[in-house]
Amino acid sequence: MSINRLPLANDDDLDPALRLISAGERLMKEAHRLFPVAFDQTNRNVWLEAMIDEVPDYLYFKDRNGCFVVANRAISIDSLPNGYESLEGLSDFDIHPEHVARGFFETEQEIMRNGNPMLDMEEFIRDARGTPKWMLSSKLPIRDHTGEVVGLVGIARDITERKKAESLHVGQAHLLKMIALGAPLVDVFSSLILLIEGQVHGVIGSILMLGGDGRTIRHGAAPNLDPLYCKAIDGIEIGPKVGSCGTAMWRGEPVIVTDILTDPLWESFTELVKPYGFRSCWSAPIHSYQGKVLGSFALYSCTPGKPSPECQKLVGMATHIAGIAIERKEAEDRIQFMAHHDTLTGLPNRGMLAERVASAIENADDGAGGVTLAFLDLDNFKLVNDSLGHNAGDELLKAVTERMLRCVRASDTIIRLGGDEFVVLLGGRLRRGETVEARLETLRQAIAEPVMLAGRSIQVTCSMGVATYPEHGRNATELLANADAAMYHAKEKGRDALQFFSAEMATHAKEKLLQQEELREAILRKQFLLHFQPQMDLATGRIFAVETLIRWRHPERGMVSPGSFIPLAEETGLIGPIGDWTLNAACRQNKAWQDAGLPPIVVSVNVSARQFQQKDWVERVARALKDSGLEARYLELELTESLIMQDVQQAVETMHRLEALGVHLAIDDFGTGYSSLSSLKRFPVGRLKIDQSFVQDLPADQDDAAIARAIVSLAHTLQLKVIAEGVETREQVDFLREAGCDEIQGYYLSRPIEARAVEALLRIPNI
Ligand code: C2E
Ligand code: MG
Ligand code: MG
Repeated sequence: MSINRLPLANDDDLDPALRLISAGERLMKEAHRLFPVAFDQTNRNVWLEAMIDEVPDYLYFKDRNGCFVVANRAISIDSLPNGYESLEGLSDFDIHPEHVARGFFETEQEIMRNGNPMLDMEEFIRDARGTPKWMLSSKLPIRDHTGEVVGLVGIARDITERKKAESLHVGQAHLLKMIALGAPLVDVFSSLILLIEGQVHGVIGSILMLGGDGRTIRHGAAPNLDPLYCKAIDGIEIGPKVGSCGTAMWRGEPVIVTDILTDPLWESFTELVKPYGFRSCWSAPIHSYQGKVLGSFALYSCTPGKPSPECQKLVGMATHIAGIAIERKEAEDRIQFMAHHDTLTGLPNRGMLAERVASAIENADDGAGGVTLAFLDLDNFKLVNDSLGHNAGDELLKAVTERMLRCVRASDTIIRLGGDEFVVLLGGRLRRGETVEARLETLRQAIAEPVMLAGRSIQVTCSMGVATYPEHGRNATELLANADAAMYHAKEKGRDALQFFSAEMATHAKEKLLQQEELREAILRKQFLLHFQPQMDLATGRIFAVETLIRWRHPERGMVSPGSFIPLAEETGLIGPIGDWTLNAACRQNKAWQDAGLPPIVVSVNVSARQFQQKDWVERVARALKDSGLEARYLELELTESLIMQDVQQAVETMHRLEALGVHLAIDDFGTGYSSLSSLKRFPVGRLKIDQSFVQDLPADQDDAAIARAIVSLAHTLQLKVIAEGVETREQVDFLREAGCDEIQGYYLSRPIEARAVEALLRIPNI
């Protein structure tokens, strides 16, 4: 290297590179002054040369053509092409690829043309060994004594480490953002691998996952590995000698193989890896937060050896991020699954119905068989739930699910709609000689096999309504509605049956819809009225109460009895407004009788389950009393056993709140429900009403007589009054009186009558 003497301007205006040269010159001068003999001009150049070479930054001077005139050791070592001893006389075109050299050349020509320096430019290069480097470069024009630009001086510092740290930082932030936004796992993995590959020169990254079985390797991502190689690894089982990754996952700790060709862990895979030239492979397991192995992160290199400590740190970071990504994906999958599946049985839930039906229809339209939708309801599930408890109920549902799944095929779907209702969707082609009916029948029989629950053998049957595409509906809604209608028929036919949808059912369903509309109209047009049926104390003969029984004055059909519209009102929710009306009208009527000076009596009002379960039911009762001005002790509410048994705990709580209001409570139709005697004790009721079915055949029917007597004695043990309903004959009255029954209600005494008739009755001193 030779140093050409350059004309220098004022030190302060200089770039650091020039300042360095200038400082060197001053140093030389000083050395010269102190040791005049030793430092002649030659020595001076030697010192200067030595000093420039010691600088770790690139330092060079180029002429107007971009050819190196001076180049220090740092740039020479990094850039000298093979076979050259000095950069002098060479240009960037000799040491860089054409497009890189052109970029430099153009910038430098620009600097020399304008005479303006360019400072702190970031430049990316590859050195002579191919190592990528980021340089912070400054280039300044140099003028001769006439002021003409004769070349430029350049200084460049290697900032690769800083750039790597920066890109690592940005890359990590980007990855975490991807994970947070739920980017596909393969994209996150690919970005992660590219990030690490950008940090460690000469490596290729790969992420493998451990399959759900905890044994099988699944391809994750490897953007720079040959897809054929990835495919060959996919599906291999992990083990104590399965390359770097298979072993790392098996051991649950990092495995560093410094030479693939000699390491026994790679014994079975050397042939596979040979064509790619990989010599070392360092793999680390990816762990979950709890320490479970989820996969592996590996770096392949074509040179044998160990990873540097920095590289190991990077791998540690990569496995950590990959772990977060996998766990986040697993959590998301779980949430997705839970949103679309029933947690108890694992079956798809109602939300999946439309989609599954649509895809079954699509397949059918493409000629891949038919679609059958069966609506399935367990017949005696409530009984199991109520008598054996919810846990037993859950077990039963699980057992039934398992059996149904045994009977279906891949092209079928079973959906749990909720409670004990399921939809069975049969898709695909039927086998030779097979019918839809036979397939569903198999399912029904499988369900009906006894189940062991809480140490008991229980048998549940089911009712099924079936609709087929396209005959009974063209989409999920239509098919489900018609299958539902058919299921109702199956239930009506006595349960434990399979019923296909038919045209008559459609008419029936239409009629029901029409009735529903009529009922809605009836509320608006105030077509309801109340009748009252007196109740008599057998000991005193006094009318002490009346039961309120609703009637519908239908414009065409005349007086309609509650039996023909209350069930529909309950089913459709219209019982809410109807029941409110009854309750208020009954309270007002009773208050009106009292205001008219009649002896005060209790008015009894029937309550249906839907009403009783309204959240503000107690408040509604309180309001009816307040609005009418009736004292609470003159109102009685009749609850049925089945209503109470739907949710005993909730019912008891509501009953206590009603009791606190001062309202009386009675159990209607007693003997027809399932109340256990032990729970009866917990109900704050004052009266039991023996159902009329037990009264009807009294006193002749021995069984009914025994039941009636038992109810009376049970009620008295619990300090409850007993009233018999539907009493029609003198013989019945005599029997009941003799059995100890306290009160009676029935045609014997009076049919349900209008309010005016009640008034007349109450005016008679005693009947
Ligand atoms: P329930 O509460 O058991 O009412 C007694 C039913 O027996 C009444 O029928 C009544 O007319 C009838 N009955 C009374 N004495 C005799 C008799 O001696 N012989 C015979 N064969 N029957 C007699 P109704 O009025 O048709 O009411 C039927 C059911 O409708 C009632 O049964 C009750 O469960 C329900 N219901 C009536 N009004 C309402 C109401 O306002 N709200 C609610 N939720 N249900 C009501
Ligand atoms: Mg009643
Ligand atoms: Mg009754």
